[in-house]
Amino acid sequence: MRTITIKPKALTHNLNQVKKMAPTSKVLAMVKSNAYGHGIAAVLPALQQADGIGVATLTEALEARQLGWDKTIGVVEGVFTVGEWQAAIKQDISCVIHHAPQLQWALDDIPPAQSATRIVWLKYNTGMNRLGFDADGVIKAAERLHAAGYQLVLTTHFANADDKENSLNALQIQRFSELLTTLQTTIDADIKGSLCNSAGIVNFSDHHYDWVRPGIILYGSAPVIDKSADELNLQPAMEFSAQVIALQTVSANTAIGYGSLWSAPQDTKTALVSIGYGDGYPRVINSDAYVTVINETNQQSYRCTVLGRVAMDMIVIDVSDMPEDTALNSKVILWGDVPHVDEIAVCADTISYELLCRLSIRPNRVQTQ
Ligand SMILES: *Cc1c(COP(=O)(O)O)cnc(C)c1O
Repeated sequence: MRTITIKPKALTHNLNQVKKMAPTSKVLAMVKSNAYGHGIAAVLPALQQADGIGVATLTEALEARQLGWDKTIGVVEGVFTVGEWQAAIKQDISCVIHHAPQLQWALDDIPPAQSATRIVWLKYNTGMNRLGFDADGVIKAAERLHAAGYQLVLTTHFANADDKENSLNALQIQRFSELLTTLQTTIDADIKGSLCNSAGIVNFSDHHYDWVRPGIILYGSAPVIDKSADELNLQPAMEFSAQVIALQTVSANTAIGYGSLWSAPQDTKTALVSIGYGDGYPRVINSDAYVTVINETNQQSYRCTVLGRVAMDMIVIDVSDMPEDTALNSKVILWGDVPHVDEIAVCADTISYELLCRLSIRPNRVQTQ
């Protein structure tokens, strides 16, 4: 069975780690892209202690409301049309405003006083140079939104928070803090601030402001380049597993799989595992990639290297170091506790985010209690 197992206890543990790191901030738990591939319905119950959730699009926000999330929902890309703005009002969804058309929709259609849509997250481009107004644009938008009765959260996004030493970080923090002070002194002392994603939470503890926006850290991956998930006391919220479906002995100097990429230096015991890129296991991995095979009889774990090309439906692993014969149907962990998804991401020359988000619909999805 190809299985994605979600661990609500790990999610709650990681959320509590965030709360310890940012004790005075509210938490907007990021659940965009189907909760980083974990499944939004599976994660929401475990994130009940978050103050709100963040999504990328209105469609995702509406899905979360449908699932019964009744606290804050923030849409970080904001709405794409005036129709979406009106739908956001109906469902009490808070939106980022990052360009002039969104500002106009908000000024043309003002939600009722009690609506959460009356809280607008105003996006300041401090150096990422994707979404957002420049400083002048923020001030002008803030004045008009404030006059129209909106409450404001000034927000921005780091470009390099994973690398504490990158000089853009200090510049982004400085621009953000100066403009927030300006808005608070000239428009409304109650304007809030939101700066940090997961990496910012870890690396810039003096700059957490009113709302932090953790994403990847909730799912148990390390958000910074110089600390592992273990060092940050995070627990992986997903185990991705499959099973051994066949056993072979490959003779010396015989190649296996597409492209005959790997050939056996000597007679080698191999196992075929029912997982491939059709499930979301990365096709492009280097020779460091490994899996954990669980021996059914003694429940011991064995580290086995992945051999040759990853195919759509299967991979081949080297089981020659296992002390006894591998049993058919043995459980194989692609990522979870060991290997950690962060390790496989390195082997695939990408980041954990991508591996988690691009899992396909084929694996069976379950959760632990
Ligand atoms: C995705 C996202 C986050 C979370 O980022 P992580 O690196 O996963 O913590 C925070 N803020 C915004 C605006 C985002 O789009």
